[in-house]
Amino acid sequence: MSELAYPYEAPASQALFDRAAAVTPGGVNSPVRAFGAVGGTPRFMVSGSGPYLTDADGREYVDLVCSWGPMILGHAHPEVIAAVQEAVARGTSFGTPAEGEVALAEAMVERVAPLEEVRLVSSGTEATMSAIRLARGFTRRTKVIKFAGCYHGHVDSLLAAAGSGVATFALPDTPGVTGAQASDTIVLPYNDLEAVHAAFAAHPGEIACVITEASPGNMGVVPPLPGFNQGLRDACAANGALFVSDEVMTGFRTSRAGWYGVEGVVPDLMTFGKVMGGGFPAAAFGGRADVMAHLAPAGPVYQAGTLSGNPVATAAGLAQLRLLDDAAYEKVDAVSARIQSLVTEALGKEGVAHTLQTASNMFSVFFTDRPVRNYEDAKAQESFRFTAFFHSLLSNGVYLPPSSFESWFVSAAHDERAVQRIADALPAAARAAAEATA
Ligand SMILES: *Cc1c(COP(=O)(O)O)cnc(C)c1O
Repeated sequence: MSELAYPYEAPASQALFDRAAAVTPGGVNSPVRAFGAVGGTPRFMVSGSGPYLTDADGREYVDLVCSWGPMILGHAHPEVIAAVQEAVARGTSFGTPAEGEVALAEAMVERVAPLEEVRLVSSGTEATMSAIRLARGFTRRTKVIKFAGCYHGHVDSLLAAAGSGVATFALPDTPGVTGAQASDTIVLPYNDLEAVHAAFAAHPGEIACVITEASPGNMGVVPPLPGFNQGLRDACAANGALFVSDEVMTGFRTSRAGWYGVEGVVPDLMTFGKVMGGGFPAAAFGGRADVMAHLAPAGPVYQAGTLSGNPVATAAGLAQLRLLDDAAYEKVDAVSARIQSLVTEALGKEGVAHTLQTASNMFSVFFTDRPVRNYEDAKAQESFRFTAFFHSLLSNGVYLPPSSFESWFVSAAHDERAVQRIADALPAAARAAAEATA
């Protein structure tokens, strides 16, 4: 990129990044944070308040990442902070059962009808890993169907991408995952029910479950085509497999009952994280009581965690869920719609080919004029335009996800002033996208 790509320096962030790189691989604790896809210095944040983040150089940004989803009420919401402080003062971990985890589980079960029982864990990765183990233990089958472009955390067997073609046995996507771990994973193109039917036909009695993002947000926002999730539900039922809906990103975000609340397709198992932790490490899996009964100590499938149901994390999650009433979702949806229209207006004015895709209040922009239905479509976009767009917005105080394959997230705290900052920054960003060259 030209010098225009990084319109100003971030010396304090750069100094921290240099220190970090000396003690941490790549200087970050989760890869996307390193700005690898867009270049430049990752911003080290020191505080957050409502819709804003402030970095180590003292610059304020309107945050359109919201910690990748969890901060749906904005940063440092006073009632969430108060609940956390109250919990912390009583002790940070007991290693025993405690009421907070019961209350959080009850709040989740009350909101999401198919969730009859739930087990709390500490990350979305743990949730999907455990759900898959349970599905295999319950069905006594080995194979798992997943979809290209869907991310379910860094579970070994799910870090597999496929060559094209139906029922291709996946090759591991990363060194460290063995062929054996990946060979039980069948990777299919998203939104392709024919491929699913063919895979079931090719492996009768072998498929334990189909796992899918309820509405994918990890290849950019690529919602299920009408009937796709119901088709998965029906195919699983017809073939004795479990349907696992990964709502780690969509859960308690896309509606009060997550994507289930939008579409109403009933899974056998579901996974959660992000919003339910209120910014702390809390996640969960759950679903049909007869399936969950196979989990230790009620049943034989082992699963455990020293910090599972941590009292501080559950207090934060519960406080956040209690604040997420209909009015809060209306606010998030409305501000999301406003920002969406500002983005399309700015890009349209500059004649930049783009497709804005939405899933309730989740949305993202693909730099292509074609609809994006799967990972292949997503990869066909002109990502170099995103890079220019991203850096222009960053230099004007708007913090987007540093990749064109991520959902953007807003919160109920995104007010008029925050929206105006985005509106002011968009024309230059659209121009930068228009002028960008590969
Ligand atoms: C974020 C995410 C995960 C992984 O959650 P972690 O808490 O990062 O381990 C799993 N599935 C989906 C759909 C996600 O968006």
